[in-house]
Amino acid sequence: MANKVFAACETTIFEIMSRLAEAHAAINLGQGFPEGLEPAELIEAGVAALQNGPHQYPSMMGLPALRRAIAENAKRFFAIEADWEREILVTSGATEALCDAFLGLLDPGDEVILFEPVYDSYGPIIRRAGAIPVAVRLEPPEWRLPREQIRAAITPRTKAIVVNTPMNPIGKVFDAAELRFLADCLLAHDLVAVCDEVYEHLVFDGVSHLSLFAFADVRDRVVRIGSAGKTFSVTGWKIGYVMAQAELLTPIARAHQFITFTTPPALQTAVAFGLGMPDAYFSGLKTTLEARRDFLVASLRGLGFEARPASGAYFTIAKTGLLDKDGDDLAFCRRMTVEAGVAAVPLSAFFSGRDLQGYIRFCFAKTRPTLEQATARLAAWRDRGGF
Ligand code: PMP
Ligand code: GLN
Repeated sequence: MANKVFAACETTIFEIMSRLAEAHAAINLGQGFPEGLEPAELIEAGVAALQNGPHQYPSMMGLPALRRAIAENAKRFFAIEADWEREILVTSGATEALCDAFLGLLDPGDEVILFEPVYDSYGPIIRRAGAIPVAVRLEPPEWRLPREQIRAAITPRTKAIVVNTPMNPIGKVFDAAELRFLADCLLAHDLVAVCDEVYEHLVFDGVSHLSLFAFADVRDRVVRIGSAGKTFSVTGWKIGYVMAQAELLTPIARAHQFITFTTPPALQTAVAFGLGMPDAYFSGLKTTLEARRDFLVASLRGLGFEARPASGAYFTIAKTGLLDKDGDDLAFCRRMTVEAGVAAVPLSAFFSGRDLQGYIRFCFAKTRPTLEQATARLAAWRDRGGF
C-alpha cells in the first residue's frame, strides 16, 4: 500500500534519540533544540497577537508585516536586497519550505547534488519528487569542499545543488571562495541552488554568514530558506521562509498552497516583531552560544574525546574513535543515553551509506548548568567503564 520512498524510510534519528532520552530521563544533547534562549519580548508579542487576532487564514504568501521584516532583516545583516511583495514566501517551518522547493522545482529524473553529512529531510522529498539525490562527501576533520568530486558529479541531468550553510551537522560555514566556486558551477551548468540557511544568525568567532543570494550573477538561480525556529530559539513554532526571484518563487508557492497553504498568523506577527529587534539581540545570541560551544568543546576534550569548535550552527562533533567500544556510533549513542543519561546523535545518520563511523554530534544550545550536568554524567560513566 505504502509509497515506496516513505516505505523505505526509517524514523528520523532525531525522533529516535529524543524519545529514548525521554524514556531514560537523559539530558538531550541529541536533537537540535535550544534551552532557555527564547527572548521574552518575542513570547510577549506572540501572546498579544493571539489575544488580538486575527485568527483566520492569512494570505498564502504570509503576512505583509512578516515578509517586510524578513526583507529588512536580510538587508540589515547580510546585505541582501529582496522585494518583500514578489520575492518572499512564509512557510510552516524550513522543513516545509524545503519540501515546497523540491516539489515545486524538480521533475522526475532530475539529479540534485547534496553534500554529506547531509540534513535528513532533503533526500526523501527529492526522491518523492521522482528526482535523484547525488551525494558528494566531505571528509573529517577539515570537511573541505571537494571541488573535483563536485565537478565530476554534475551531469546533463543535474538541476540543483543544495547548499546548507552554516551546515548541519558539522557547523561548517561556507566561505566566499567556496560559494564563488559553487556560483560558477551554477552558471556553467545552468543550475539552481537551494540554500538552506536556517542557521544564518548563528555564526561565531567573528565569521560572517555569506549567502549565494548576495552574489549578483547567480541571484536569480538561488532559493534561500530560513527559519525563525533557529533565530529565536523557538523550534516548535515552525515559521520558515523562502526568498527567491519571482519566477523561481512561483512554482514553490504553488506547491506551498497545496501543502500547508498558510501559517498561524499570531506566530507570524511575533516573528515579524522579533526580526525587528535591535542588533544587540542578534549579537547577544552569538556571544551566548559561542561561550556554550567553548564550554562543551573543553568538556568533551577533558573527557578524552577529540572535539573542535565549529564556526556555525549549534553542534559540536566529538570523535569517539577507539573510545567507541561498540564500533557502531548508533549503538554507542543508545548506550550513552541509557547508561550515562546523556543523548547525542550518531554522525552516520547523515550519510546515505551510514558508513562514516567514529563521530557523534552534541547540541550545545543548552543552559550552562545542563551542560555541566551532562559533563558530570559522562565523566561518571567513563569512570564506570562506559567508554
Ligand atoms: N534545515 C536544517 C539544516 C535544520 O537543521 C533544520 C532544523 N530543524 C531545518 C532545516 C528545519 O527547520 P524548521 O524547524 O524550521 O522546519
Ligand atoms: N534540525 C534538528 C537537528 O538537526 C532537528 C529537527 C528535527 O528533528 N527534524 O537536530
